[in-house]
Amino acid sequence: MDLSFDEFKKGLWGKDVSNTRDWVKWIHRNLSENHCPECLVVDGCWFAGDKHPKHPHHPYCHCILEDLQYETVLREAKADCPFQKFDPYLFDPTNYYKHGKQKMFESWGYSVEDSEYLRDEVEKQSLEKYKNGDYELGVWNKYGQRISIRVEIPRKNKNETVSFITGWKVCPNGLIHLNTPYGGE
Ligand SMILES: [Zn+2]
Ligand SMILES: [Zn+2]
Repeated sequence: MDLSFDEFKKGLWGKDVSNTRDWVKWIHRNLSENHCPECLVVDGCWFAGDKHPKHPHHPYCHCILEDLQYETVLREAKADCPFQKFDPYLFDPTNYYKHGKQKMFESWGYSVEDSEYLRDEVEKQSLEKYKNGDYELGVWNKYGQRISIRVEIPRKNKNETVSFITGWKVCPNGLIHLNTPYGGE
């Protein structure tokens, strides 16, 4: 490339890329032969203006961040929170996964019987927090950009609130998909 990186940036993005915006949509543009998998996997994904994967991802990254109306986020964002992530995965009733992640929930008075309640609660709170930009960016690789979201629930055996981290993957068009219902305390 003969262009300096600055000239390249100016021509490509047309404006100051450090501008923060309310919400943005990551757009991967097919302008060169080499498509890097990290950029491709976040194509079409929505992020809060101050919580998006580092942009540009690398020199000569062709991706752009497009402004996204916050109303669209509020109206269309959704969370995919599969029941199987709780039963059987989290509570592991047949001791198949042997990850021990259910121990914390059991100490709070929850059992596999509460899977539906927990699923609904994790889905509701996480979607709300995603829309509020209340999430942390995690690993970004060719399998996607992960985010973590803290969920609070009451203890069933004590008058107290406890919280834990849930792990999600950001998918295109405002969808977040639950990877792990318990990613740590
Ligand atoms: Zn890239
Ligand atoms: Zn890129």
